[in-house]
Amino acid sequence: MEFEPVIGLEVHAQLKTNTKIFCSCSTEFGSPSNTHVCPVCLGMPGTLPVLNKKVVEYALLMAMATNCSINQVNRFARKNYYYPDLPKGYQISQYELPIAEHGYLDIEVNGDNKRIGITRIHMEEDAGKLTHDPHRPLSMIDFNRTGVPLIEIVSEPDIRSPEEAGAYLRQMHAILRYLDICDGNMEEGSFRCDANISIRAKGEKKLGTRAELKNLNSFKNVEKSIEYEIYRQKDILLDNGIIIQETRLWNADTNSTISMRSKEEANDYRYFPDPDLLPVHIDKKWIDTLKKDLPELPQEKKERFIIKYGLTSTDAELLTSSRDMADYFDECVKLFNQPKQIGNWIMGSLLGLLNLEGKTISESPVSAQHLTDMLKLIDKDLISGKIAKTVFDEMAKTGKPPKQIVEEKGLVQLTDRFEIENIIVKIISDNPKEAEAYKNGKTKLFGFFVGQVMKATRGKANPKIVNEILKSQFQNASFCPISAAVKNFNPRNT
Ligand code: ADP
Ligand code: MG
Ligand code: ZN
Repeated sequence: MEFEPVIGLEVHAQLKTNTKIFCSCSTEFGSPSNTHVCPVCLGMPGTLPVLNKKVVEYALLMAMATNCSINQVNRFARKNYYYPDLPKGYQISQYELPIAEHGYLDIEVNGDNKRIGITRIHMEEDAGKLTHDPHRPLSMIDFNRTGVPLIEIVSEPDIRSPEEAGAYLRQMHAILRYLDICDGNMEEGSFRCDANISIRAKGEKKLGTRAELKNLNSFKNVEKSIEYEIYRQKDILLDNGIIIQETRLWNADTNSTISMRSKEEANDYRYFPDPDLLPVHIDKKWIDTLKKDLPELPQEKKERFIIKYGLTSTDAELLTSSRDMADYFDECVKLFNQPKQIGNWIMGSLLGLLNLEGKTISESPVSAQHLTDMLKLIDKDLISGKIAKTVFDEMAKTGKPPKQIVEEKGLVQLTDRFEIENIIVKIISDNPKEAEAYKNGKTKLFGFFVGQVMKATRGKANPKIVNEILKSQFQNASFCPISAAVKNFNPRNT
């Protein structure tokens, strides 16, 4: 029997507001425990929540970017459960009337496009953070995170593979960052994902029983855990076993999932409208203004890069994966209209360097101006592509402009044909065995000679000219000199 995986993702994105969703406490990450708290977010009796308008604005931006329809009247609900990180005994969330519904996101996997439905987006508050002492029977609670604003984005069960899940999440992540409403830091938990997975016989319409995976703190882990879970469920079904609905924890050390708890149903939470908060009414004018100021999003940018700059889809995807990178690329192209070459340098040398130094492109030691100035030097044949690597490394180290580096280090390309020819002639005569072998058909040795010329000129000879002259020298079967100089160097003629 052939099985089909069915996957739906829930993304929790922490919003980049200065203050919490229902009080004026700071949302800053990493402060000493319990320093950003007040009676409201500590759930003291008699306090009342007041909605942060910025949260609504950010949720609206996300709703527009994911093609959702907006509920101009929506409302908050209480999700009731007891846990020490939840001082009120309920979480303020949205239930029947979320801020947005019925959207979608288009993703691309292995060259195929696919549309993933978005069920809903709702606003809610985060809970506190528990830390468990590994050495003592002790747990500590930090309420700084209590009341930090989140949006939850719930997908339809439209995803069919770990790769599709990864593509969907990366796209979602990029959009949040483009909109500048979430910092997207998965390790710090500002971008969290739960994955719901079931499998069913291919062709079957009914959904199978799902497991919900938690503790997925990187894109890779999401993909790996889904893969593991598909395999685990298949195994059970092939064994005629029954899959139970449960929440499972991903363990990145063992690459497997373990059962955490059986899954609660929505009615266990006894959702009801929060009587402390008025329904949210969203003005049409506000929506229109926000729509007008929506930035160019990753998908549009990618299409523009493909159509306008002739990039491949893969390259365009990588170059638009962050807004900063796309901006850097755009800036370079403005300075020097060679998009393909620029893309190659960014995706090769620059990203390599940034990865090595653990920097983002906005912290790049090589500015767009310097990178394109260097490309112009190649374009004018002043330096070779190979020397450019040296110049690039030097720019990265010193931040100096490329022209200065080339002058200081004497890296100007050797293009004098006469000088190159003399060097080549000498090299041929110094290596008679190889020259003979080349003549007798061992054409692979051409590279050896090019290498020798580069060595002799410390990489500065113009490769095109070297190739031309080497070829013309070898075409002369008897190695009879074109230039008189050869006579003096070729021992066979003496
Ligand atoms: P809960 O909060 O109880 O997890 P939600 O409805 O908010 O429920 O989210 C459920 C998520 O699980 C959605 O992304 C949905 O697409 C997905 N889902 C629901 N049923 C299945 C199933 N049988 N198999 C896989 N995914 C499912
Ligand atoms: Mg869930
Ligand atoms: Zn507070």
